[in-house]
Amino acid sequence: MTDIERSCVQITAGPLNFLESWVPVELDSTQHLFSPENRYKTNLIRRSIQIRSICTEEKMKIILIGPQGSGKGTYAELITKEYKIPTITMGRLLRQLAKTEKYKYLQEDYMSKGILVPDKLTIEILKERIKKEDCQKGFILDGFPRTKNQAEQLDKITDIDLAIYIDISDETAIKRLSSRRQCEKCGKIYNIITNPPPKENQCECGGKLYIREDDKPEAIKQRLNIFHNQTKEVIDFYREKQVLQKVNGEPDIQAVFKEIDNIINIKNK
Ligand SMILES: [Zn+2]
Repeated sequence: MTDIERSCVQITAGPLNFLESWVPVELDSTQHLFSPENRYKTNLIRRSIQIRSICTEEKMKIILIGPQGSGKGTYAELITKEYKIPTITMGRLLRQLAKTEKYKYLQEDYMSKGILVPDKLTIEILKERIKKEDCQKGFILDGFPRTKNQAEQLDKITDIDLAIYIDISDETAIKRLSSRRQCEKCGKIYNIITNPPPKENQCECGGKLYIREDDKPEAIKQRLNIFHNQTKEVIDFYREKQVLQKVNGEPDIQAVFKEIDNIINIKNK
């Protein structure tokens, strides 16, 4: 196998870090531009450019950080729609897997006992998940990492391009969350400000609406305190890595998403 052939094979099949060290092929100027050898080299260069643009130029590995009420889930959905990259919500992923034969021990050993799934295991699961086809362009992580240790572990399996922190005041979070109402009968969730029920205090199914215990101001305040304490270190971690972007989450959804969209676009220029 010639050196060029070897490069070709490596470019086609090889790991991305190989591209970083790859030296561009030079065309042979003593030959005609379309000579077989030069054509071969031209194709090689073209192919490597294609691979680069697919794999290394898109900076779409995104983490969304924000307290409850920041609209994180909504923005994740919008990014997924706009950029065709999946949202991976860690809690949901674990719950789904726990229903499968291979991972039913998650339910048996941890979830049913109210024990947190260890970081090491969560990272292994995430590592498998982001290898999948739909994550080739990138992904959005929602609800992970929550702690500095998780951020450090995550850093070992992939490079995050953007950590977007959606910042809202505690007052706003409390206002938004305490306006949530749930249906007694079918469980549907309304928000009396942003997504009001058809009739006051009544679900579309006819059931009565109530304020959940964990949506009462005292409970919300407690959750916010935990959030701030835990995420401070996570935010610092990504600030040091220079991938942190803070977004003001106070305005309406359209305006906030526009800012997020800009940040992603600038990163990918
Ligand atoms: Zn209902």
